Amino acid sequence: MNGQMQAAARGAPVNGLSVDVEDWFQVGAFETVITREDWAGLSLRVERNCDAILALFADAGVQATFFTLGWIAERAPAMMRRIAAAGHEIASHGWDHERVFRMTPETFRADLARSRKTIEDASGVVVRGYRAPSFSIDARTPWAHRVLAEEGYAYSSSVAPVVHDHYGWREAPRFAFHPVDGHDLLEIPVTTARLGERRLAAGGGGFFRVLPYGFTRWAIAQVNREEGRPAVFYFHPWEIDPEQPRVAGAPLRSRFRHYTNLARMEAKLRRLTRDFAWGRMDELARREAENPVRMAA
Ligand SMILES: [Zn+2]
Repeated sequence: MNGQMQAAARGAPVNGLSVDVEDWFQVGAFETVITREDWAGLSLRVERNCDAILALFADAGVQATFFTLGWIAERAPAMMRRIAAAGHEIASHGWDHERVFRMTPETFRADLARSRKTIEDASGVVVRGYRAPSFSIDARTPWAHRVLAEEGYAYSSSVAPVVHDHYGWREAPRFAFHPVDGHDLLEIPVTTARLGERRLAAGGGGFFRVLPYGFTRWAIAQVNREEGRPAVFYFHPWEIDPEQPRVAGAPLRSRFRHYTNLARMEAKLRRLTRDFAWGRMDELARREAENPVRMAA
């Protein structure tokens, strides 16, 4: 019996596993040194890294959601079809990682349409979910969920209900909620853990790589067992790639976050897939729609 079956046998919630598909040079923390004009001249490593992730997921017997940039889908259509053929969900991560709080409602709508069409054409499957680059739907973008609802998305996983130096919406609910009155759109925030009155980011990214595995294990167990809710976890293809080119001139803190423990990431992910039950975000959204957090009036 693998970890997935053991967790199901215990009655533990099935958590949402997600990959934000972008390449090593598209990270927000490097945008002061690598501009979007530079991207076309840089070597793509996302395809080999996604293939390694597909192999890891196949070994673990898990399915997941790949939130993909339109810019990537346009350049790697065969990879998109391999991901879909393996039974994973394909969803949108926007066009070129522009954060939502830097857009207007009109440019956001255009970004959604362009990326969705490109991702659907490349993969051959329908896109139903969206994740904002750098969890950039927050108190500055009160219009964003309404645009997603009007564009027909079933769910969004675009909010980090925590304070962070790059992102965060501290007042948002920690679990799935309907952000727009009269629409079925579900927002499923990335996981936070409670420590006293504080909320700690615990859904992946740099925290998962930099901190010992025990922190994430504790946090997800708290959410699953004490709160009885599913967790939402994410990571990036470049995080399993110790050979990626090093970006000189980026801020020291960004470089520390980006390059620490890359070589240990695959082993950590294997532990994570063994210790908890995981599935696609669209399936999580369907289950969570039965039990949303009620918004204060
Ligand atoms: Zn991203």
